Amino acid sequence: MKHQSVKQLLSTSPSNQNVCVKGWVRTRRGNKNVVFIAVNDGSTIHNIQVVADPNAFDENLIKRIQTGCSVSIQGKLVPSQGSGQPVEVQANEIHIYGEADPETYPLQKKGHSLEFLREIAHLRPRTNTFGAVFRIRHAMAFAIHQYFNDRGFYYLHTPIITGSDAEGAGAMFRVTTLDASAPPKKEDGTIDYDQDFFGRETNLTVSGQLEGELGALALGLIYTFGPTFRAENSNTARHLAEFWMIEPEMAFYELADNMDLVEDMLKYLVRYALDNCKDDLEFLNKMYDNELLQRLQSVVDHQFVRLPYTEAVEILKSSGQKFEYKVEWGTDLQSEHERYLVEKHFQKPVILFDYPKHIKAFYMKQNDDGKTVRAMDVLFPGIGEIVGGSQREEDYEKLLNRVKEMGIHEQSLWWYLETRKFGTVPHAGFGLGFERLILFITGMANIRDVIPFPRTPLNAEF
Ligand code: ATP
Ligand code: MN
Repeated sequence: MKHQSVKQLLSTSPSNQNVCVKGWVRTRRGNKNVVFIAVNDGSTIHNIQVVADPNAFDENLIKRIQTGCSVSIQGKLVPSQGSGQPVEVQANEIHIYGEADPETYPLQKKGHSLEFLREIAHLRPRTNTFGAVFRIRHAMAFAIHQYFNDRGFYYLHTPIITGSDAEGAGAMFRVTTLDASAPPKKEDGTIDYDQDFFGRETNLTVSGQLEGELGALALGLIYTFGPTFRAENSNTARHLAEFWMIEPEMAFYELADNMDLVEDMLKYLVRYALDNCKDDLEFLNKMYDNELLQRLQSVVDHQFVRLPYTEAVEILKSSGQKFEYKVEWGTDLQSEHERYLVEKHFQKPVILFDYPKHIKAFYMKQNDDGKTVRAMDVLFPGIGEIVGGSQREEDYEKLLNRVKEMGIHEQSLWWYLETRKFGTVPHAGFGLGFERLILFITGMANIRDVIPFPRTPLNAEF
């Protein structure tokens, strides 16, 4: 008999029809007259309740039904006698695929800490919490594609292995097939990458933006959505060494258009979660963060503040707040500053723009003041920076000057510079950190808990 998911069964109207459910047992309880088995198959946060008459089954079989074991159960779908679920299954046949020894199964008991669950990343998807987080993660990935597709953006696949070392967004991981213990050397003693797989030095990408721009300057509206890698040794609750990024790039967009798009997109995604992930969000709201739903709704309801960096510095300096890092015009804002602006001062998301040029990347469009560039960061409550973007410098000479000023090897960027020689246009784009988005949507506190297999310094086992 073909089985149905728990999610399907829970929304089926019960009329004693025969059904089959397959999944993992969450709990078994009962007495000598009746046994209740809660089965979950990951399709939803909710379990389906199976009711069995212990006298109709082998005693030993009932005993083997323990938390974590996998089962296939056939029976009748009936209206539930108890409250808490609409339907239940009256079991006729129970088959155990695999047992889970209660003595050694790590998830036998509820209420493990998130830290402990990180050490069993191979099993933690079976908990309610990680089931909810990963279902939401899926829904957000789907909604992102939906959002862009509906608006005429093309999904462009930018390379993961890159020959450019000037992406400028952080330390890179080297990709090589050379023998690490005895690499070929040139006469001057340096490693001879001519003999490497690609005949040059290559790294894992830190951002698809530069290649994304090439796409936008041909297809108009594009976005990338792929993994990026940064070898920063920053052991924080908001940084991963491998994370996913969404990077739209738009020809003929200026900074204000970029801000309109990012605000509309973020609101769309939050609304999508509220509309489509209700059960999982309610669970997380109840278990971890009682203000989650309210915070999500407030992002949808309020206009984001748009604030020039220079004004932000003034607000911070006159705030009377004690910060660990001092703020002066020209310093990069720390997450404590970003969160003060968002959580205390404005109490809504903030888009900061027009940053000092020396703290931002070479490709950002220079303002006429000679001091600032058309950068924008979106700051979110509880997160700090969730998006970084800018209008790009489209003027060949200005871009080249900036490359030289910053000591970037211009030869390695010849292809990027050429786009400003042939048919250059104003354009803009941004990068949304996917895991930072999921942190915000789920209310989880640590980025290691919103990606199935987190990559952080000294951690790549699973
Ligand atoms: P931060 O200042 O928070 O380290 P950044 O300015 O280095 O971030 P960008 O280069 O602007 O980041 O990248 C765009 C977006 O990618 C960020 O706004 C953030 O959402 C996300 N992001 C950046 N670095 C990481 C990381 N190590 N782990 C997870 N997400 C990241
Ligand atoms: Mn940034």
